[in-house]
Amino acid sequence: MTQQTDSRQALGDGGLSTSEKYRRFVNLSCVHGIEPLTIDRGQGALLWTVDGKRYVDCFAGIAVVNAGHCDPRIVTAAREQLERMVHCGSYLYEVPVVADLAARLAEVTPGVLQKTFFCNSGAEAVEGAMRLAKAFTGRTEFIALELGFHGRTNATLSVTGNRFRKQHGGPYLSGTAFAPAPHPYRCRLCSGSCTLACAHAIEDVIDYHTSGDVAAFIAEPVMGEGGIIVPPDGYFELVKSILDDRGILFIADEVQSGFGRTGRMFAIEHYGVEPDILAMAKGIANGLPLGAFIARPDVADSFQPGEHLSTFGGNPVSCAAALATLAVIEEDHLLERSERLGAWLKGRCIDLQARNPSIGDVRGRGLMVGIEMVHDRKTKEPAPEVAGRVKRACRERGLLIGVGGYFGNVLRLQPPLVVEQEQLDFAVEVMEEALETARQG
Ligand code: PLP
Repeated sequence: MTQQTDSRQALGDGGLSTSEKYRRFVNLSCVHGIEPLTIDRGQGALLWTVDGKRYVDCFAGIAVVNAGHCDPRIVTAAREQLERMVHCGSYLYEVPVVADLAARLAEVTPGVLQKTFFCNSGAEAVEGAMRLAKAFTGRTEFIALELGFHGRTNATLSVTGNRFRKQHGGPYLSGTAFAPAPHPYRCRLCSGSCTLACAHAIEDVIDYHTSGDVAAFIAEPVMGEGGIIVPPDGYFELVKSILDDRGILFIADEVQSGFGRTGRMFAIEHYGVEPDILAMAKGIANGLPLGAFIARPDVADSFQPGEHLSTFGGNPVSCAAALATLAVIEEDHLLERSERLGAWLKGRCIDLQARNPSIGDVRGRGLMVGIEMVHDRKTKEPAPEVAGRVKRACRERGLLIGVGGYFGNVLRLQPPLVVEQEQLDFAVEVMEEALETARQG
């Protein structure tokens, strides 16, 4: 017996539980800590553990399962494509479902966005969008936002404005200049009412922090990982006019905010601005892996043959699921539902804020709601440990939520858009108790 077989036997799972296998064989060194739940199945906005405990899922696998867990229409579409053909190379041969999805995306995305490139994840979509912007403009630099997040590849971390996400990975690509986050709650620029100083600052960033060779400005229309930050009204309108004056493209990163999450198909629609390139993933196929970026035809056509490709990109099973997801969003009026239930949820969270001094701010659009926990409303000192305790107390009572933000102090409520009113009633009730438990330490 070779030494290799020996060590494989020694590592054999030997009847270990899922938890034990996770700890032994899954590399968890990179995550903050996995929730102590072993999930067996899901339906709508509910998840069940292997031992039968039921949870209301208010995080949707990080804002992914917008049409709900295991919607039968999406499952059937994926299964039928799975049985027909899984993979042949969607950039080697034409596949009907890929063409159908591309045509549908041209319909549902804003403005004149028309030609899609398919890949597998959000980071790949953003990185491809960045390459396309360089190809079109012949320029090399980018403007990104402080607190922005765009993925975990080298290029996407280069435009990510959060040192905690970047640590131990540098140096990153040169050529990115960061503009101030459009963050009303923690604005450092305007004293008193908002004058859109953060948008005006982009001119200075271009003039003083770049060589003027800027291909694109990249931003999330609602900033997810930064802490559900909603830029002020008028922000993107002003930014776009600055960019247009200088021939700089606007890449909207809708990986997290897209597909109905904020009450519109894409969050940039709230601002009445048309991006030149739009990156998407997460909610696109309701949990099957798929990423994409769509661009104006003149921009899209600037790649030269051989300059971009993806083996798995445009996987037919994922594309079938994406087409079915778009149909479900339409048939079940999930945009209206996200807007209506989101407004209700935000209102109830504002009520909680009135009764709980640890809540510094409540913000969001549609079913993308953030609650920022602080030690003191005046100093706004972040309270990440309180946020952690609230999340734990929610889980113990059957509710799953997320925690994020630069300081790790923002509770994230991003349920499937099919969540039912009674499930949200339950969520608010549980959060009220959890906030009280967390306050008592
Ligand atoms: N862009 C945004 C706005 C995101 O929120 C994320 C992931 O959270 C990404 C890009 C990266 O997506 P992925 O994890 O699919 O690579």
